[in-house]
Amino acid sequence: MDNKTEYVPKRAMSIQAHPDDQDFTVAGTLAKWAKAGCDIVSVLITSGDSGSNSIEHDVDYKPRLAQLREDEQLAANKVLGIKQTVFLRYPDGELVATLGLRKDLTRLIRQHKPDVVITGDPSGWFYGNEYINHPDHRAAAEAATYAVFPSAGTRLIFPELLSAGYEPHNVKRLYIHGNEKPDTWVDIRETIDIKIEALKKHVSQGDTHDVDQWMRDWARESGKEKGIEFSESYRVMILQRENEKEAGQDAR
Ligand SMILES: [Zn+2]
Repeated sequence: MDNKTEYVPKRAMSIQAHPDDQDFTVAGTLAKWAKAGCDIVSVLITSGDSGSNSIEHDVDYKPRLAQLREDEQLAANKVLGIKQTVFLRYPDGELVATLGLRKDLTRLIRQHKPDVVITGDPSGWFYGNEYINHPDHRAAAEAATYAVFPSAGTRLIFPELLSAGYEPHNVKRLYIHGNEKPDTWVDIRETIDIKIEALKKHVSQGDTHDVDQWMRDWARESGKEKGIEFSESYRVMILQRENEKEAGQDAR
């Protein structure tokens, strides 16, 4: 595959529920885009403050865990070449796709003006027969999707944002990971090692020794259909067409 034909946005925003979500799922793509000069903002809706089941950790550990996990995400983002990280600090495990959350994400999109927003799949309830998708993931994805459309680009939705100076912005593409029928494959051969290195920064989430094999297996499985050794796959909503020649296409 000719890498020169792949689409690379100038600005992108990753919107995820928890620290480490991004690094399990879309980090190979983000690292690739960052290497190509894309400015990326990484948005964490919660700081993962419920991410411990240790009997030694009680409620008063939550603020410390949040701090620890924010530091881990900052370290991971540094590995990926992401310069801006935003923590919204909603409570972990209690996320709902409220209008308040949609408004927060709309504000960030209008402020940073990404060409692409990359997030999860709001319709993903079950994966295989062993994993019920975490409700925070679905809530984050739903709020992000509706912040992209219609809220960010519609002038009079959330009028207080307009009054505060946040002019509407149209996102060109929405990249959705975790969709069972992907239509776009990003070749991550050159960044899979960076993805694994980023994932290993999330030390608080346990043993990271098996991550190498696990991530390679996932990426291999994802690329199999298209003959790509390692890939991350997406359903992509193209909301605004650019000059296709100039913009390039991913494997579709
Ligand atoms: Zn998560």
